Amino acid sequence: MSVSIFDSFLSLFFPNRCIACNRPLKQHEKYLCDSCLYDLPKTHFVSPTDNIIVKSFMGRVPVRFAYSFLHYTKHSAVQKILFNIKYFGAADFAVFMGEIFGQHLKNISFSDNFDYLLPVPLHPKKKKIRGYNQAEEIARGLSNILKIPVLTNAVTRTVFTQTQTHLSADERWQNVKGIFKIIRPNHLKNKHIIIIDDVLTTGATIESLSQTLLSRLKVTISILTLATAKGI
Ligand SMILES: [Zn+2]
Repeated sequence: MSVSIFDSFLSLFFPNRCIACNRPLKQHEKYLCDSCLYDLPKTHFVSPTDNIIVKSFMGRVPVRFAYSFLHYTKHSAVQKILFNIKYFGAADFAVFMGEIFGQHLKNISFSDNFDYLLPVPLHPKKKKIRGYNQAEEIARGLSNILKIPVLTNAVTRTVFTQTQTHLSADERWQNVKGIFKIIRPNHLKNKHIIIIDDVLTTGATIESLSQTLLSRLKVTISILTLATAKGI
């Protein structure tokens, strides 16, 4: 992601510039200029029950709904957006992106008897260093629009994993297997949970979290991620 570091660094000190293209923002614009906002590479999946994300979890996790908002590619606006959300203290921007995603879901009538949004937990040490969990902030934005509560204290991450960017799919799975622990099972029992994350690549982390939930509880699982590297 090094290409975007300089731009991201600039946007930290010049917050009145578009995070994606670095042009000065007009007064009514926030974080992204109108043009970048309009040009966001939406996945346009037709169905939240039959798409490449749902298919990618087949045989791994029984998933009710799964949907990703944006296509992630290297050197793209989406890469800059994810990078800013993760590394530049841009928790408010993560909420903003969650709200845009939520509005999109509302427009496509994404609804069911959902109980909770469950952001993929960060290891407490990593959360302390970063100051926030980006998945949690995205979930807050989604919650503002979809009116589904965010659950943040029911599951924890017990292993501090290093970045997975350079690992193969199998190595990623070995890296995340069994890293989550349920601490408040009563909050989750018999609920329809939507797992929230920033970006979906191999899905190993979400699979690990789902298997931990399903091994102990009767839960229904759906998945929403802001972006995905699948289906390009
Ligand atoms: Zn722009």
